Amino acid sequence: MHKFFLIILILLCITCSPNKQKDTFGDKKMVTCYAWLSGPGNASDMDLKESFDDLKLKGIDGLMFNGGQDPATYSRVGKIAKKAGLEFHTWIPTMRQGNNPALKKEWYAVNGLGESAYDKPAYVDYYQFLCPSHEEVYLFLETMYGKVADVPEVDGIHLDYIRFPDVILAEGLWEKYGLVMDREYPQFDYCYCDLCVGNFKKISGIDIKAVEDPSRIEEWKQFRYDLITNLVNRLAENVHSKGKLINAAVFPGPNSVAKKIVRQEWDKWNLDAFYPMNYNDFYLKGTDWIGEVCREAVTALENKKPVYSGLFICPNPERKTDEPDPENHGLTPEELEPAIRASIENGAAGICLFTPRRMTEAHWKAFDKAIRTDYSKR
Ligand SMILES: [Zn+2]
Repeated sequence: MHKFFLIILILLCITCSPNKQKDTFGDKKMVTCYAWLSGPGNASDMDLKESFDDLKLKGIDGLMFNGGQDPATYSRVGKIAKKAGLEFHTWIPTMRQGNNPALKKEWYAVNGLGESAYDKPAYVDYYQFLCPSHEEVYLFLETMYGKVADVPEVDGIHLDYIRFPDVILAEGLWEKYGLVMDREYPQFDYCYCDLCVGNFKKISGIDIKAVEDPSRIEEWKQFRYDLITNLVNRLAENVHSKGKLINAAVFPGPNSVAKKIVRQEWDKWNLDAFYPMNYNDFYLKGTDWIGEVCREAVTALENKKPVYSGLFICPNPERKTDEPDPENHGLTPEELEPAIRASIENGAAGICLFTPRRMTEAHWKAFDKAIRTDYSKR
C-alpha cells in the first residue's frame, strides 16, 4: 500500500515540476513573429549575436533587416542571424532611392506641377522616388536586389517603398505636415514625366496633362497601379530564379487604403508573403481596425498567401497622449495583445513588429503572453 502512495507521489512531482510545465500546451508559442530592424551601425559581431539571441528568446522568428545595399553587410549580419535561429530577410527600399551615381536625374518621378522628386521631393527631403516607367530603373533594382539575393545567408528580399509617393497622407499625419488632404493635389500626384504621359496616351488616347481633374480618370489610376505591379512581378521572377523568397511591406488594404493613397494594387503581386503596415494610430483608428484590414488582406489574396500584420509600437507609452508627433504614437502595452488577437483572429499568419527597439519591458510582457495564446480555440 505504501509503495502505491509513493508511486503516486512521484508521479505528482513529475507532473507539477516547473520544467514539465514549460512543455505543456499553454506555454507553447502559437504566433509567428517577425521584426523590422535596422543596423548594424557600429555593432560588433558579439553585440549582434547578443541582440539576435535575445530577440529569438523573446519569440521573434525572423528579421526584416535594413542595412543598406551592400551584399557584404547582409552576409556578415545574416550569418549571425542564422546562427541565432532567425529567418533573415533583407529590407531595402525600392522606389525611394537617394542620390546615387548609378541613377540619373531624369529617371526620378515628376509630380503634376512638373517638379522632379529628385530635387523637389514631396513632404520630406528623403522622398526621392524613381519613375517605374524607365527600363533603366528596373534594371538598377534587378541588379541591386539580385546581388543581395545571391548572398547564401539571405532567405528573402523584403521590398519597401514599393509605390508612388503618398498622393494622400494618412489622416493622422495631416496636422504634422499642416495639410488637409481632402482630395488628390497635383504637387503630391506622380508620375507626369514625358515617358509616363506618352505611354498612357498611346494606350488610352488620353492626354492626361490636358485633363482638369486627373483623379477622376480611372484608367490613369489603373495605369499607375500596373506600373508598380509589373515592376514587382519582374523582380519576383528574378529573385525566385535564384531560389530565394520575395515579400513586401505594403499599406493596409489593398482597397481601403493602399490603392487610394499610394497606388499599390498589391493583391496582384506575385510575392511569397505580405507585411501590411497596419499602423492604426496613423489612421486615427483603434485595434479593432487592425482586425478589419487583416480580414480585407486575406480576402483579397483569397487566403493563398500569408499576411503578417505589421504593428507600430509606441516607444514611450506613458507620454502617448501628450505626444504631438504621430511617429511617437503606436500600440501601448495594453493595446498590444488586442492588436495581436485582432490580427490572428482575422486570418493573419503572424505579426511583424515595428520595431523591437521601441518595445518597453511592459510591451514584452504583454507580447510574451499573447504569442502563447491559441486564438484559433477562442
Ligand atoms: Zn514617369
